[in-house]
Amino acid sequence: MFDCSKCPGYCCSYPLIELNKRDVARLGKHFGLSFEKAQKKFTVERWGAKYSMRRKADKIFGRICQFFDTKERRCTIYEARPSTCRSYPGGRCGYYDFLSSERSMQRDPKFIATTWNKS
Ligand code: SF4
Ligand code: SF4
Repeated sequence: MFDCSKCPGYCCSYPLIELNKRDVARLGKHFGLSFEKAQKKFTVERWGAKYSMRRKADKIFGRICQFFDTKERRCTIYEARPSTCRSYPGGRCGYYDFLSSERSMQRDPKFIATTWNKS
């Protein structure tokens, strides 16, 4: 239905990637940090969410999750990724459908939709 290895990581560029307390604790454990240190280092309050993933610059989407490898286009903390990343996108990925359709229509197997936000 979708193949993340053929995608530049669109879902990792969402402005709000919300974490719960368990996710923050898991990140802390992964990096050998206390809950408080992990919260401060990896999360920020955003749009009413107490814990939202910090982001960094990305040449394709403008901003992307801090844990995304912008050269290899993949997650660097796969085993410690938050629950929202584990369950996304469910059965089908709308972005991948769009990408597949455009790649076929434009006869460009490497086509990608670029920047959509800078926040
Ligand atoms: S946007 Fe879809 S295809 Fe791309 S990485 Fe996320 S889930 Fe995978
Ligand atoms: S933790 Fe990994 S899967 Fe989740 S948004 Fe960040 S890079 Fe993507």
